[in-house]
Amino acid sequence: MKCPFCLKNNGCVLDENQNCWCFSVRVPKDLLAYIPLGQKGSVCVCQECIEFYRTDKLGFLKVFDFESR
Ligand SMILES: [Zn+2]
Ligand SMILES: [Zn+2]
Repeated sequence: MKCPFCLKNNGCVLDENQNCWCFSVRVPKDLLAYIPLGQKGSVCVCQECIEFYRTDKLGFLKVFDFESR
């Protein structure tokens, strides 16, 4: 599965009926709001992006071009 932001493999194992690491990570709610509608609930944001968003929200939005939305 690919991260909806950086499009890198996020290592999500939801597909395999396992507990994915993403269940134990707290993803900021406002970050979830930026996931494209069609992908909400079915994709995981990768750890890198979560960390990026947490430490530098404005930088994150700039890099992924969400500034104007
Ligand atoms: Zn990512
Ligand atoms: Zn996952």
